[in-house]
Amino acid sequence: MEDNLILQMPLFRPRYKKWKKYGYTKKDEKENLKEVLEESSGGYCMYCYTRIRVDGKLYANLEHAIEKSNSAKLRECIPNIGIACPQCNQSLKKAGERKRKLPSEIIENYEKESRCSLEKRKQCTVACKALRRLQKACCNNCEGKIILQPMGVKGEDTGQPLALQYDILHMEFQPAKDRYTYSGAEKEFIEAHIRRFRLNDPVYKTRGIYEFIKNVINGNGVIPEYEYNNWIVDKFREQLSGKSREEILKICESIFKIIFRI
Ligand SMILES: [Zn+2]
Ligand SMILES: [Zn+2]
Repeated sequence: MEDNLILQMPLFRPRYKKWKKYGYTKKDEKENLKEVLEESSGGYCMYCYTRIRVDGKLYANLEHAIEKSNSAKLRECIPNIGIACPQCNQSLKKAGERKRKLPSEIIENYEKESRCSLEKRKQCTVACKALRRLQKACCNNCEGKIILQPMGVKGEDTGQPLALQYDILHMEFQPAKDRYTYSGAEKEFIEAHIRRFRLNDPVYKTRGIYEFIKNVINGNGVIPEYEYNNWIVDKFREQLSGKSREEILKICESIFKIIFRI
């Protein structure tokens, strides 16, 4: 039972194809990029896990992890571009953008060290050293405590990936402490990320999982077929699959009782 109640949120690993061109400015390259990122996120926003494809339409923007206003080179830098819902892209991630603008000496260094130029673009799909260094500078800013996607961020103290988990019984996102051992500062970083994207904010918080659990109980342990709009439900569904109807019903009923204290 216990292990069903903590969901580990994914680390994204886009599988770029050698024979495809990815980019931000050219239309076809942009489409390719959206496609590979959507595939790696399973069709969810990389920051808030909301479904981005609804009814065959894609409600998402390409999202520059380190803002492209810092350097023209970042504009077409593939490992620096993730996919996000409009809300995360246009407002939640933007907050504090001016305050975390990188100092010019750091930018100059990056531009010198980074081996791709605007004229002769290399198709780099892994963050180069220069980009990693830039990312570090970004994350050290108090307004920059963001788990940048799709490359992810590693903790300064333990070197482990900074990741989230979802605790079903407490209805909240937390640092992935069941999977990794983090330092206090790393936990604080992840918590700042959670606050920024309002993942535990009552207004934005997903209700999907509770609807799903109720539907399973009403259906006597049968898992409903239809799509939910949040990754958490899909993940939970995946964990239940392979179990018997009786087991599934038992798990959902006990969760329901604990959450609603009956
Ligand atoms: Zn989002
Ligand atoms: Zn590059």
